[in-house]
Amino acid sequence: MMQSLRFKAIDNLATNQNVIVKASTKITAIFGENVFTHKTARQFLSDEAYKSLLASIKSGKKIDRVMGGQIANGLRAWAETKGVTHYTHWFQPLTDLSAEKHDSFFTLKGDGTPIEEFEGAALIQQEPDASSFPSGGLRATFEARGYTAWDPSSPPFIMEIGNGKTLCIPTIFVSYTGESLDAKTPLLKALVALDKAAVDVCQYFDKNVTKVTATLGWEQEYFVIDAGMVNARPDLVMTGRTVFGHAPAKGQQLEDHYFGAIPERIYAFMRDYEQEAYKLGIPLRTRHNEVAPSQFECAPIYEEANLAVDHNTLLMDVMTRVAKRHGLIVLLHEKPFAGINGSGKHNNWSIATDTGVNLLAPGKTPKTNLMFLTFFVNTIKAVNDYSALLRASIASAGNDHRLGANEAPPAIISIFIGKYLSEVLNQVETRVGGKFDEQDEAMLKLDIHKTIPELMLDNTDRNRTSPFAFTGNKFEFRAVGSAANCAINMTVLNTIVAQTLKQFKKDVDTFIEGGDKKEIAIMHVIQKYIVESKSVLFEGDGYSEEWANEAAKRGLPNVKTTPLALDAYLSKLSKDLFESNDIYTHAELEARHEIMLEAYIKKVQIEARTMGELATSVILPSAVKYQNVLIENINGLKAAGLPASAFSNQMSILEEISNHINAMSTNVRDMIEARKKANVIADTREKAIAYCDDIKGEHFDEIRYHVDKLELLVDDAYWTLPKYREMLFLR
Ligand code: ADP
Ligand code: MG
Repeated sequence: MMQSLRFKAIDNLATNQNVIVKASTKITAIFGENVFTHKTARQFLSDEAYKSLLASIKSGKKIDRVMGGQIANGLRAWAETKGVTHYTHWFQPLTDLSAEKHDSFFTLKGDGTPIEEFEGAALIQQEPDASSFPSGGLRATFEARGYTAWDPSSPPFIMEIGNGKTLCIPTIFVSYTGESLDAKTPLLKALVALDKAAVDVCQYFDKNVTKVTATLGWEQEYFVIDAGMVNARPDLVMTGRTVFGHAPAKGQQLEDHYFGAIPERIYAFMRDYEQEAYKLGIPLRTRHNEVAPSQFECAPIYEEANLAVDHNTLLMDVMTRVAKRHGLIVLLHEKPFAGINGSGKHNNWSIATDTGVNLLAPGKTPKTNLMFLTFFVNTIKAVNDYSALLRASIASAGNDHRLGANEAPPAIISIFIGKYLSEVLNQVETRVGGKFDEQDEAMLKLDIHKTIPELMLDNTDRNRTSPFAFTGNKFEFRAVGSAANCAINMTVLNTIVAQTLKQFKKDVDTFIEGGDKKEIAIMHVIQKYIVESKSVLFEGDGYSEEWANEAAKRGLPNVKTTPLALDAYLSKLSKDLFESNDIYTHAELEARHEIMLEAYIKKVQIEARTMGELATSVILPSAVKYQNVLIENINGLKAAGLPASAFSNQMSILEEISNHINAMSTNVRDMIEARKKANVIADTREKAIAYCDDIKGEHFDEIRYHVDKLELLVDDAYWTLPKYREMLFLR
């Protein structure tokens, strides 16, 4: 019998040499060397061009053609010193991946003379053939073409792949009539909205604040698996997760992986991708093992949100590429292995002023304390009022395996703020008669700044089960999927906080007009908001059943599946929110909703097809071959004149295998029928629900159950798919 890929992969593990990674240099020596930083720009641009670039970065102002030409020349000159021959507009369509189309600097003049050039027009705008990116019908309705436009707020960089080097220009991607077709355009708009609303509120406390930015520090979880193993698992190749596979005898119950020593081979891979990341200016800081076997995490120093998003998207790409050099595959899927912890991407988020103040860090004086309390409570109120939208912002087929399954965090959006701040909010809320007067300064003098850092050092006040937790000077949104583009949830979070702050200012001004002193007016509104958002605050165990019941009583949404979670985007609340803050028109929102549903359908469809094919052409043949061995054995024993009791065990295994094969095959047939029915449903939402309930819900677990049973019964030598224990523990 030909050796299966499974056993080849296991054999190869023993002989695989670790890839030698260049010894690390000082990080500062390579950090940002492939980025067109301010310093590089200074060196390669005229004074005039440099100033115009800085101005445009600061204000988001468009760069004119002449300056564009100068900047493009400078960019090319810099890139050529690094051996770059091609450039690309780099953008983030609605696929969770980045996209690029390379063009060379090389061109021919009219008379045929070969030259290298990069024109301003090519820097500022391009028209990629966009027809195969998701558009949710927008391009059909409006205009067939789309274009990418330079986003100067994220610096150009050079991507190295093997020996090839490409100059990448971060861009946004829009239809010809201006509708956004990517993840970045709405994010940039949301950041503008937040800036404006937060600066206005900051004026109550500090007139010197002229700009407020959102900050984001993501923590990326991922699995790393031997490439030979992955190649022997068509389900991992096609869907990024294992659709079958029995739990290994040893899972994560020993808890020996978390923060354990990083295996040699993985360590080499980490150092390798980190060096690539440093060159690209991605400020990675932390690396460690995660809870599950073969699961790891990395995290950077936080950055301004737009740049942080680009860096996360870029890093996912870099990791994937570098892993290949090590014969490894990175799995970014939220749930690659059943029964083993899934992967998330914690989004640590805060807001900072251009005067250097973190608005979610408790202040040192009564005045800054009040400022902290203002932004803190506004965030809570935003999450409370728009929790369904926040849930929608993290919905995906992959993340459904975490949210609402028996794994953290739950699909219920709630906020954890810790004992001390709960007490503070309690005090504000229960102020007798809601009255604040000037004698009441004690209220404003709360020692928040001294107490919080102390409490945060004490890990007992850190709730790991909360999807949205305050962690001392920032909120940590933990329900984000590991494969997601952070821009999607960051757009929603920043927009809802912007909207809440806008309303806050109106409400405070109303109290001031009614005769309140400014501070008193602010306290009144804070109190009102605390009362209104109480139901979203939860300090207990987010994974418990009691919480699900309690949340239901409180009226908090608990939507477990993507097709239904996405409904929130089309609510009146959502449409008004996005339109009034200039983020999405109704048409854009509807298009996005459609795109996300389609992505969901396709993912489940591919999983269903993969399951069907594997069951029929991989699992069944292995099981049948083994049955034949049993039959031969039984016949042999019979012929030798032994009584039935001598082969009763073989008989019962034979029968068990038959039963599982039948159940598996019947289910596969039914699933195919269900798919045929779903495929003719015209309404995208209805179709997505059918894929969710009638195909995935009805059949996936059932088919898997029988396959996993067969895995335990069939002779190991006949089983061709690498087993969990091999993928997760051998390296
Ligand atoms: P942990 O949560 O594991 O204790 P840290 O609190 O040090 O780790 O930070 C986790 C992530 O939060 C890091 O990526 C860090 O850069 C980020 N972070 C820290 N401060 C902020 C902030 N003000 N805004 C956004 N992210 C932040
Ligand atoms: Mg953390």
